Amino acid sequence: MVYVLDTSAILSGKFFGSNIATTPKILEEIKPKGHSWRLLEYMKSIGMKVIEPPGEAIKEVIEAAKRTGDIANLSEADIEAIALAYHLKAILLTDDYSMQNVAEELHIEYRSIVEEGIKEKFYWKFRCEACGRFFEKYQKICPVCGGKIRRTIKKN
Ligand SMILES: [Zn+2]
Repeated sequence: MVYVLDTSAILSGKFFGSNIATTPKILEEIKPKGHSWRLLEYMKSIGMKVIEPPGEAIKEVIEAAKRTGDIANLSEADIEAIALAYHLKAILLTDDYSMQNVAEELHIEYRSIVEEGIKEKFYWKFRCEACGRFFEKYQKICPVCGGKIRRTIKKN
């Protein structure tokens, strides 16, 4: 089963497995550099696909959002994410009530991020390549041995 992630799902920093996808407009909402960008890079590195949903699917979503009265609350990126879940018959991951509501209308399966993410949380860790020590914060070189520091994921 594929999960379609909206912006908040990506920025939650939670681990949803590697069978994940998002859309080009969702990516546009994430600012380059900083913590959110690193989360995005991480999601891509574990296999997140970026897929543009077909126009047909977008049309369906817009019509459904008009029916439910959610259209005014949805950004283009939101609509695209719902449309991708619709197209892929995927599970939409979002905490946004309007998005959930439209998903419901179109019989798209959805989960809230808190609910879904809680099973497999991960934390960023930084590890020295040379001596293997872990650090909580990023630093260029290991203060103990001078080795290179790499970012790793620690699940728990
Ligand atoms: Zn070291």
